[in-house]
Amino acid sequence: MPELMLAEMAHTLLRETEMAVAMFDEADVLRFANEAFVQRFHHQPDGQRTWTDIMRANHAAGQGTRVSGDVDFETWLASARSRRGKQPFRAFEGDLENGQWHWITETTLANGWMLCVVIDTTALHQQGRDLRAMRDRALRAAQTDALTGISNRAYMQQQLAALFVRPNPLVLVMLDLDHFKQINDRHGHPVGDAVLRDFAGHLQAQMRRADRYGRVGGEEFMLLLPDCTMAQAQPIVERLLARARNAVPLPAMPQQRYSVSAGLALRSPGDTAQQLVARADAALYQAKREGRDRLVCAA
Ligand code: GH3
Ligand code: MG
Ligand code: MG
Repeated sequence: MPELMLAEMAHTLLRETEMAVAMFDEADVLRFANEAFVQRFHHQPDGQRTWTDIMRANHAAGQGTRVSGDVDFETWLASARSRRGKQPFRAFEGDLENGQWHWITETTLANGWMLCVVIDTTALHQQGRDLRAMRDRALRAAQTDALTGISNRAYMQQQLAALFVRPNPLVLVMLDLDHFKQINDRHGHPVGDAVLRDFAGHLQAQMRRADRYGRVGGEEFMLLLPDCTMAQAQPIVERLLARARNAVPLPAMPQQRYSVSAGLALRSPGDTAQQLVARADAALYQAKREGRDRLVCAA
């Protein structure tokens, strides 16, 4: 291909590409700008305006580069100019007032002319944000019981381990709905589910902010009450059982009631998490044996 045709083709490609391409002379006057550059930076080459003029005009019009931190625009501009055109090549990222992100490259010749290529990376940043949001949603889902919306077993176990790292007092309560199988058998699974959600609602309504509570099995729940004595924990759990006893989980079936049994254990020095859970479990089984709908505190 003849040299002239190649040059023409290069010129056409530069004009048509979605990359913003511009050339500045040794006095930093804009000498060439393709359509993408003009669209993004709002200035045609007129043989007079410098990069600094363009930056100022765009900033004044609220459409320029976003100046981060607490510096004013002129301070930022002075610092940007001190870095501009000092190296044969540099590349950096920047964001605009309109939320777009750019990857900017500057190629500077020995004679001072500069080729500036700007690529829109907004979509990449958007993907990064979407990814972080998805990760957060996945993490929340992994810690949450889908039926009741409160913490699940895995998260409660994490919380228990975390609380065991501290030497502070800790009360653990295991709760189990009474004769729950009968509710399912008589009225079907959806009614059973509504009862589970109802009880989770009472937990949420009654627990203090520092308390952890979750659904750790089919109709089993766990409470972790940090910095709590047995004497303080007992009335809290009694109140919770009373709320369940008086609840009408399904307005359409006012005769449908339920009750809950609970086993409470206080952490002793030298306890492992498993030992504390086992004591609360044993107390819960005692509550079941003694007639259900009651709290038993482990000795
Ligand atoms: P107890 O008073 O001794 O605890 O008797 P129970 O009937 O509550 O205990 P059991 O362990 O025999 O039955 C628990 C039932 O919980 C059996 C199971 O079908 C039901 N279940 C487990 N998970 C769910 C759930 O997600 N939804 C519903 N509706 N039922 C569930
Ligand atoms: Mg059970
Ligand atoms: Mg049960």
